[in-house]
Amino acid sequence: MDDAAQDLTNRTDMTAYWMPFTANRQFKAAPRMLVSASGMYYRSDDGREILDGTAGLWCVNAGHGRSEIAAAVQHQLMTLDYAPSFQMGHPIAFDFAARLARIAPPGLDRIFYVNSGSEAVDTALKMAIAYHRARGEGQRVRLVGRERAYHGVGFGGISVGGLVNNRRSYPLLTSDHIRHTQDPRNAFARGLPLHGAERADDLEQLVALHGAETIAAVIVEPVAGAGGVLPPPQGYLERLRAICDKHGILLIFDEVITGFGRLGTPFAAQFFGVTPDLMTTAKGITNATVPMGAVFASRKVHDAVVGGGAEGAVEFFHGYTYSGHPAACAAGLATLDIYEREGLFANAAAMAPLWEEALHGLKDAPNVVDIRNVGLMAAIELAPRPGAPAARGYQALVKTFEAGLTVRVAGDIVCLSPPLIINAEQVGRVAEILRGVL
Ligand code: PLP
Repeated sequence: MDDAAQDLTNRTDMTAYWMPFTANRQFKAAPRMLVSASGMYYRSDDGREILDGTAGLWCVNAGHGRSEIAAAVQHQLMTLDYAPSFQMGHPIAFDFAARLARIAPPGLDRIFYVNSGSEAVDTALKMAIAYHRARGEGQRVRLVGRERAYHGVGFGGISVGGLVNNRRSYPLLTSDHIRHTQDPRNAFARGLPLHGAERADDLEQLVALHGAETIAAVIVEPVAGAGGVLPPPQGYLERLRAICDKHGILLIFDEVITGFGRLGTPFAAQFFGVTPDLMTTAKGITNATVPMGAVFASRKVHDAVVGGGAEGAVEFFHGYTYSGHPAACAAGLATLDIYEREGLFANAAAMAPLWEEALHGLKDAPNVVDIRNVGLMAAIELAPRPGAPAARGYQALVKTFEAGLTVRVAGDIVCLSPPLIINAEQVGRVAEILRGVL
C-alpha cells in the first residue's frame, strides 16, 4: 500500500455508514475499498488496479471516468441546476425522452422518469394497475412475478421479486409467482438454453387459479440477473407474451440490467424480438454517474391513462421530486452520445462470442457445476460447500478481489457483466483470473 492510500485507510472512520446489502461487521473488519476508477479498472486503497468484471453493479456500461459526461453535468448544473417537473417543465427532460424514444423497442416510446431501478419497478406496477382502472377493470390488481427475480427493494418490487431474504420479513402486495427457468437439463448450455419454454405456461395455471380478470401484469427480467444470470429458454418469452395477450394481462420487462446494450442491442426486447407493454430501466441510462431510471410505456398504456379523466385533471398521481432531474438528463444524453459514437452496443455483440468461449473454458475447473452466458452477462455456478451454502461464493468474491477482478455473487453463483468497452485481451484476463481463483 502506498503512503497516500495507507493514510486514507487509517483516516476512514467506518462506524457511521450503515452499508446496503452488506455484511457490515464482516466488511468493516476486512474492508475492500475502491478509491478511483478509469476505463475498465478500479483502483483500490492499497494502490492495486482491479479489473471491473461487473461494470460496477451492472451499470457502468461505457466504462469509468467518462469526461464527456462530467462536462455535460457540470454545464447543466451551472445552467439550470434543478427545476420542478410537477406542472412545470425544462427542455432537457423533453430532449432526453425524445432521444430515448428513438432507441426504444417498437411503440414503447412514452418515457416516465424515476431515480432508480426500484422506483422504475414500482412505477411500472402502478402504471399497469392504472391502465386497467382507466379501462374499467379496476379489479385487476394482482401482480405476478417469478421465482429468483430481483426487482429492487420497494414494496412493489419485493412483492413480485423472488428472493426470499428480500421478502420474508415484510408485508407484501397481492402477488403470485411463476417458476424460475433454471433447468438441470440445460447445464453448461451456451447462450439461450433449449429446455424449459413450457415454464411460461405457469401463467396459465395462475389464470386458472385466480381468474385472468384479477391479474394486472406479469413482470420478468428478460435475463434474470441478480438471481444468478438465467438466460431465458428458447421460445419462453414469446410464449409468455402470447399468454398475456390471450388474457389481457400486461407484460413488463425489467430491463434495469439488460437495458443499454448489455446483450448487444439497445434493450433485451430487441434482442429477443419480444415487445413488452412496459419496460423498466435504470443503471446504464446515465452510465451510473447520476442516479436515474425510466419506465418506457407503450402507447396503449400511456394513451389509456393519459387520454382518460377530466380535462385539466392530473392523470397519474405519481412522480418524484427528482423525476427528470436536469443533471441526470444531461448525464443521460452524454451517455447515449458515447454509446452511439463508440458503437458500444455493437462492441458488446462483437465481444459476446469471445466472452462465451473464454468463460465456458472454465468448465473443467474445480467445483464448477454450471456456466451460463448471453450477451456480456455470465454466471459460473459453484457447488456449495456441504452445510455452508454461499460460503464458497463469498470466498470467490474475496479471492477475485485480491487477484484483481470484481465479481458479484448470488449465493454460490459468480456473476459477471463487464463494461461494454471490454476488449479481447481483457476478456481473456477475466477468465485467467477466475481460473486462478477457482
Ligand atoms: N430491477 C433489476 C432487474 C435489478 O437488477 C435491479 C438492481 O440491481 C433493480 C431492479 C433495482 O435497481 P436499484 O438498485 O437502482 O433500485
